[in-house]
Amino acid sequence: MGSLLVDDIGELVTNVAGTGDGSPLGLRRDAAVLIEDGRVAWVGPARYAPAADRRVDARGGAVLPGFVDSHAHLVFAGDRAAEFAARMAGEPYTGGGIRTTVGATRAASDGQLRATVHRLVGEALRQGTTTIETKSGYGLTVADEARSLRIAAEVTAETTFLGAHVVPAEYAGRPDDYVGLVCGPMLAAAAPYARWVDVFCERGAFDADHARAILTVGQAAGLGVRLHANQLGPGPGVQLGVELGAASVDHCTHLSDADVDALASTTMDRVSGPATTTVATLLPGAEFSTRSPYPDARRLLDAGVTVALATDCNPGSSYTSSMPFCVALAVREMRMTPAEAVWAATAGGARALRRDDVGVLRPGARADLIVLDAPSHLHLAYRPGVPLIRQVLHNGVPQCRS
Ligand SMILES: [Zn+2]
Repeated sequence: MGSLLVDDIGELVTNVAGTGDGSPLGLRRDAAVLIEDGRVAWVGPARYAPAADRRVDARGGAVLPGFVDSHAHLVFAGDRAAEFAARMAGEPYTGGGIRTTVGATRAASDGQLRATVHRLVGEALRQGTTTIETKSGYGLTVADEARSLRIAAEVTAETTFLGAHVVPAEYAGRPDDYVGLVCGPMLAAAAPYARWVDVFCERGAFDADHARAILTVGQAAGLGVRLHANQLGPGPGVQLGVELGAASVDHCTHLSDADVDALASTTMDRVSGPATTTVATLLPGAEFSTRSPYPDARRLLDAGVTVALATDCNPGSSYTSSMPFCVALAVREMRMTPAEAVWAATAGGARALRRDDVGVLRPGARADLIVLDAPSHLHLAYRPGVPLIRQVLHNGVPQCRS
C-alpha cells in the first residue's frame, strides 16, 4: 500500500491529552501525519515529516480522528416518516412504533436488509464516521435476530444483540416467556455474531429484573454490556449498568443525583482507566426528532462523567446518520463546548466501545482521519448543516470525496 503523508494541516485534533496545546483535544498546529499499512505511523511538526510515497494535501483544513458512532440501529426495513409527521403535529413518542419496523424487517429479504445497512454505513462514512456500532432488535425472533447480526457483522465489528428491544406482539402479556426466549435460544443464535448485549430498560419495555437477567447471561456468553437507560423517564437502568460494569449507558436523559454519582465513580477510577469506565452516551438526535427535553450534559461533565455522543440512527426516533449534526446539537442545545462535543464524538465514542485504536491520532492508531473544509474543529458546531467533511481516510485509504 505504501506510505501516505497528510500535510498542510490547519489544525490537527489528536485527542492525545497532554500533547499539543495540552487540552483534551491535544491540538497541534503545523503538523503532519504519516500513515503506513492502515495505521498512523508518525505525528509531528510538518517540517520534520518523513518522506512518503504519496501525499494528501489538507489545504489548511482541520484534520480530526474519524467519528466513532457508538450507538445505531441500522438493520431494519421500511421507514416511519408518517409517524414523525404525526409527532411533529403533536402526538407523543412512546416507543410503540418499534413494532411497525419489526413487521417490515421480518418481511424483508436478506438482500433488502443488507442494502439498507450498506446505504447507511456509506452515508455515515461520507459524513466522517469511520467506526459505527449497530444493533439488532427489529427481528425479535431467533432467526431474525441472528440474521440481523450476521448482516451487521459484514460491515462492522461493533455488533450488539438487542433482542430485548420491545416485547413483540406475539408475546403480549407474557414478558417472562419472551425474556426466557431471549436468554436461551435467541442469545445462543445471536452470540456468534455479536460483541455486545443491550436491553431497552424502560417503563413499557423491560424492567430491571428482566434487564439484569438478560445482561447477565449475555456476559456469561462472553458479550460486553451496554444499556438503553433513563430515556423516557427516571428508572433503574443507569445504576444497573454501572453495577454490571457496562461500557456505556445510553440516552441518560432523566437522571437522579445517585445516577450521576454512580457514573462519576467509574470515571474516578484512574488506576483501572477506561477499561472499567461506564460512559454516558448522549443521543441528542433522539430528543431533536421526538421534540423532547435534552439530557443535561453539563451536569454530567461537571461531575466528571465520561460523555460520548452518538446518532442513535434508527427509522423511528432519530433517523440521522450525521455525527456533525449531533455535535452541533450538543453545543447549541446541551451546553457542551465545541471541544467537549468533538471529543465526545470521537474519543468518547471509542471509550464507549472500549477501543483505544480509534478516536485518537497517535502512532499505532487506526488511520481513520477526516479533513474539514474549515480551518478548525469549531466550525463543526459553528456552521451547522454545512457539509464540511472534505475528505475521509478509512484504514489509511482515501475514500471518494462527497
Ligand atoms: Zn437506541
